[in-house]
Amino acid sequence: MPGQAMQARERSATERGRVRAASTKRTAQLASRLVSVLLSTALCASVQAQSANPSAIVQPEGASTMAQNPGWHFQKQAVAAANPLATEAGYAMLAAGGSAVDAAIAVQMVLSLVEPQSSGLGGGAFLVHFDGKAVQAYDGRETAPAQAGPDLFLGPDGKPLAMKQAIVGGRAVGVPGALRMLAMAHAAHGKLPWAFLFAPAIRLARDGFVVSPRLATLLAAETALQKDPVAAGYFFDAQGRPWPAGHLLRNPELAAVLQRIATEGPDALMTGEVAQAMVNAVRQHPSNPGLLQLSDLAAYRPLLRQPLCTRYVVAPKTYRLCGMPPPSSGMLTIASILGTLDFTPAASLPLTAGQPSSDWLHLYAEASRLAFADRAAYVADPAFAEAPAGDWLSLVQPAYLQARAAAIAPQGQAMPQVQAGRPGAVPAPLGWAPMPAQTESGTSHISVLDRWGHALAMTTTIEDAFGARLMVNRGKGLAGGFLLNNQLTDFSFSPSGADGKPVANRVQPGKRPRSSMAPTLVFDADSGELQLSGGSPGGAFIIHFTAKTLYGVLRWGLSPQAAIDLPNFANLEGMTFLEKGGFAPSTTAAALRARGHQVIEMPLTSGLQVLAREPGGWAGGADGRREGVVLGD
Ligand code: GLU
Repeated sequence: MPGQAMQARERSATERGRVRAASTKRTAQLASRLVSVLLSTALCASVQAQSANPSAIVQPEGASTMAQNPGWHFQKQAVAAANPLATEAGYAMLAAGGSAVDAAIAVQMVLSLVEPQSSGLGGGAFLVHFDGKAVQAYDGRETAPAQAGPDLFLGPDGKPLAMKQAIVGGRAVGVPGALRMLAMAHAAHGKLPWAFLFAPAIRLARDGFVVSPRLATLLAAETALQKDPVAAGYFFDAQGRPWPAGHLLRNPELAAVLQRIATEGPDALMTGEVAQAMVNAVRQHPSNPGLLQLSDLAAYRPLLRQPLCTRYVVAPKTYRLCGMPPPSSGMLTIASILGTLDFTPAASLPLTAGQPSSDWLHLYAEASRLAFADRAAYVADPAFAEAPAGDWLSLVQPAYLQARAAAIAPQGQAMPQVQAGRPGAVPAPLGWAPMPAQTESGTSHISVLDRWGHALAMTTTIEDAFGARLMVNRGKGLAGGFLLNNQLTDFSFSPSGADGKPVANRVQPGKRPRSSMAPTLVFDADSGELQLSGGSPGGAFIIHFTAKTLYGVLRWGLSPQAAIDLPNFANLEGMTFLEKGGFAPSTTAAALRARGHQVIEMPLTSGLQVLAREPGGWAGGADGRREGVVLGD
């Protein structure tokens, strides 16, 4: 991987020019094809033709191989998403005069079909939008059903359930919020008619799409999905074998549901027969039923929040980083890590042989440990857990981070222990017990820039790969449907700490589980000009994948693609993770271990999508670890 990634980075200017010319030409051809097809209502035939020849667009060979994406360049508008068919649908909307929000809706509907393991109608999402003047933060996070309480994930013995036991079935299904959130954003920023945005997904669902290598790989690794009769009949053949890459898969049930949503709006999902089918799937699960009711679905409301924005100085420039506030911990934790690093010598440590050095990684891991300790102590749905000192920004104030950073030994050993701080002089003692570490892992990121210079970053999820392994179908004899999320496993399984204090992120009725999703927009703080849109899937690793990419572009001056290609690294409340095969063989890990870090080398499958301003236009990058591509012009 590093060799390949480095080759990609070291591509000569001439070669980059060729890529740019080829991509611009192909994009122009595609635009004219898609627009004319859209306008002649034959969009479906076009998308289908593309899906019959998926090699026309760069794709990885499997879940853990690294495709060498060239990086993309454009002047006016672009869409970056995790699957070529989804990117094309979004681009078709831009080409037809649509806004960034229009494109994102078309992308999300196609993702629901072609990347069902990651996001869809049955999940939630956060969307950060720039309308040319202001930033808006749309919260479409799932909520806990009204009947759910702090003991949701405790077994009969009063102990927390095993993660897999909690995930599969109805128990962890939260009220899906992505669709109503998209409708809210469309009401404010849509330019194309709502129904128009569904045409690509409806046609692909009805006529079929080609199963991608990544979907095939994840299906082949599944053991739980086939236990759901609807999913078994859709994703597997009559002998129970998963469909291979290249198989043309049709989802007539999803086509029918999308058609109703296109015509009637989001209530077609959240009320009536589709809602009833969701409730049945959840409550009638044979071994692990859940608590979702029709009234939960009908009552769900997306929220428009104040974005969380912080300053990030890379002299002589000052940037403004904007993202979701809680219930996401994403932007807050990224800002905490980057802000803490500023009080260490990190900025004086350049890339070494194209990689972060072990000295830099030591500082990064230490800053992350401090940031994650605060995350575990404080971050939860703000309707249920007050911000420390009344303001989430207290966690990233420079004076506070400077005091925290003083515990880091730049030349020395890793800190023996790390605890949450007292931001804004929070009166002691802390009200909350820290949330124990839990695995968080199916998510997708979308970035869009439209011709008006409006842009968005949206991260969308059903939580685990294939979510709760429950496929919703109305029982009308049509195959397929959509998958439900298991987002409630993002709550703390333990409602309280050893000292009896409640955990801020415990389950409560109507509450939104803490997230790590970090859809991010970056601005020049002086001119207000948009600089970047990006984000990634990856559970709690999202924070690190996104922080790496921001640091790579803003401080190390890399192109978005080069920043994405940098090997991944992370520290989750103690353990330091290095992407397997990504760093100089064993020397980086050995150097960190010698300084007291517990190092684990493993695949770190980010799915970063990034659009960033470059001289004379925009550059796009998509993560070769998954199947993302960028289209624009
Ligand atoms: N459920 C996670 C979150 O909201 C995201 C899961 C993933 O990225 O796979 O933070």
